[in-house]
Amino acid sequence: MLLLRNADVYAPRALGLQSLLIGGDTILWMGQASDLPSLPPALATITSEIDLGGLRLIPGLVDAHVHVTGGGGEAGFRTRVPAVPLTRFTLAGVTTVVGLLGTDDVTRGPRDLLATIYGLREEGLNAYGYAGGYHVPLATLTDSVRGDLVLLEPLLGIGELAISDHRSSQPSFEEVLRLAADAHVAGLMTGKAGILHLHLGDGPRGLDFVRRALQESEIPARVFNPTHVNRRKALFAEAVALARDGCCIDLTAFPVADGEDAYSAAEGLQRYLASGAPPDRITISSDAGGCLPCFDADGRVSSMDVGSSGALLETLRTLLQAGMPLATALPPFTANPARLLRLPGKGRIETGASADLVALDATGAAQTVIIGGQIHVRAGQALRRGTFESP
Ligand SMILES: [Zn+2]
Repeated sequence: MLLLRNADVYAPRALGLQSLLIGGDTILWMGQASDLPSLPPALATITSEIDLGGLRLIPGLVDAHVHVTGGGGEAGFRTRVPAVPLTRFTLAGVTTVVGLLGTDDVTRGPRDLLATIYGLREEGLNAYGYAGGYHVPLATLTDSVRGDLVLLEPLLGIGELAISDHRSSQPSFEEVLRLAADAHVAGLMTGKAGILHLHLGDGPRGLDFVRRALQESEIPARVFNPTHVNRRKALFAEAVALARDGCCIDLTAFPVADGEDAYSAAEGLQRYLASGAPPDRITISSDAGGCLPCFDADGRVSSMDVGSSGALLETLRTLLQAGMPLATALPPFTANPARLLRLPGKGRIETGASADLVALDATGAAQTVIIGGQIHVRAGQALRRGTFESP
């Protein structure tokens, strides 16, 4: 049992100062300290207490696009990014990740992805994944992607399938539609999200396929979940229109240079909300562990960086500095991805929800991080580390 006192709770709604009683991995009670039910003596003796001293307490961040195995490999074997260790997530306030394969679905595969997800789970993180990768035919463990989604519990949908990108396998419209149908039907069978998480490249075809799918098929709009849509301004405008039609769109918190034809995730969210599009149909992810290559006109990599989950709290900080209320800024990092991914108990602070909590210090950094009732970070320091992380 764990009692948190003096937490300024954003659930994401602002609830003011609250106390929370956590039992096991669940928030058992939340309310004013004066209303705290008296615990039976046997429980009181095993309850530890943390006084958060009025710090802002938010739901743990849900990072729904992470190359947990390490991505990359686009400019030679030395550019394969190593697997992302536990504290790269926990110190960044991320309590749930969705792992995926990208460009390199040859030297990385579903076995490696699942093993990495299981490893992160053993270390205390909430970890899930997508089936497949950039290319069709998808790499699968069973005889079909529907089989993978139905039989392999951690896999929530298909992704990141690349379209409108020179690195894609140039899937036909029919192939994309077939995969969306597989994801949707597997979602029906299992109660999982059943979404098709689409990597969008810089290609001028943009979101053509998704618009056509909404017009020509019976597949619900929510199944189509395009990501990186802030990488080009025109692509972003297409994505906002699709969000109005029922798709949930994902912004990537990558660095954006001055004068670049792209929006930062912070600017994208501000523009999205100002447009009046549905506030619950936008999420922000980090692309952690993925390579951030810049290509020259011949398609060769000219420079390279690696995505990090820390970009999420940085984006949140930028939004707050721009004057956005925390309760408005939080859902794309918490409640929205949890709803899209059909992860009950995640992304919200309420009685009965998972005890996945982050206390922010005055600078907006993660001061305390609790995952499933276990304390991972205190005073900004990792108390738990990944198996091969040295102190
Ligand atoms: Zn991608």
